[in-house]
Amino acid sequence: LLDLRDIRKTYPSDRGPLRVLDGVSISLRAGETLALTGESGSGKSTLLHLSGGLDQPDSGEVLLDGRDIGQLDDAARARVRRSRIGLIFQQFNLVPSLTVEKNISLQARLANRHDAPFAAELAGRLGLADLLTRYPEQLSGGQQQRVAIARALVSRPALILADEPTGNLDEDTGDTVLGLLLALVAETGAGLLMVTHSPRLADSLQRRVHLSRGRLEG
Ligand code: ATP
Ligand code: MG
Repeated sequence: LLDLRDIRKTYPSDRGPLRVLDGVSISLRAGETLALTGESGSGKSTLLHLSGGLDQPDSGEVLLDGRDIGQLDDAARARVRRSRIGLIFQQFNLVPSLTVEKNISLQARLANRHDAPFAAELAGRLGLADLLTRYPEQLSGGQQQRVAIARALVSRPALILADEPTGNLDEDTGDTVLGLLLALVAETGAGLLMVTHSPRLADSLQRRVHLSRGRLEG
């Protein structure tokens, strides 16, 4: 499903180029769940953004079903993202001017894959049924997080990329939300790459890799 091959990425900084990823390779099969751990600043979000075609590597390949999306232009990468990938960001990235219902369905509409009963089912299972007409600013952090998860899943993407999807929730709520995410991923047969700080949460996924000094361990 997803093949990262020898990815290198630097960012410009005051003290010269900052090397964040220094030859990272990852392989994720359909239906597989993989946890990505690493210290703050180790490049986890950077790697996730590259995997989702939100940014391009300096070198290396980002193969999605064998096609290098790192080489596509912005518009083509956006199309692939819409149709194939569900993203759950560290900062939710909900659209403030849209209701919960519209935030969830927008993604599926853009992908031409809107399925109202499935959207309603997702909202129900994530405990959002009574919040559909609210706006993001009227929600708690945990509720916004669940909207972001519904939005990522609603177009039935082949690949889900999740950046600390329960990072803003208390432990019990986080466990519940992660359980739901894993159940929904299993039902849709998607592959999941999930960033987490928590070794405990990482253990509930099938595989785990650790990012340190720009390289993967384990
Ligand atoms: P956290 O666990 O805190 O979210 P992370 O592992 O996700 O951290 P990244 O956000 O990928 O880390 O950042 C990796 C490094 O790259 C950090 O040193 C960060 O300051 C730097 N960085 C990230 N984005 C940019 C950018 N757009 N421009 C310059 N430097 C950046
Ligand atoms: Mg991050």
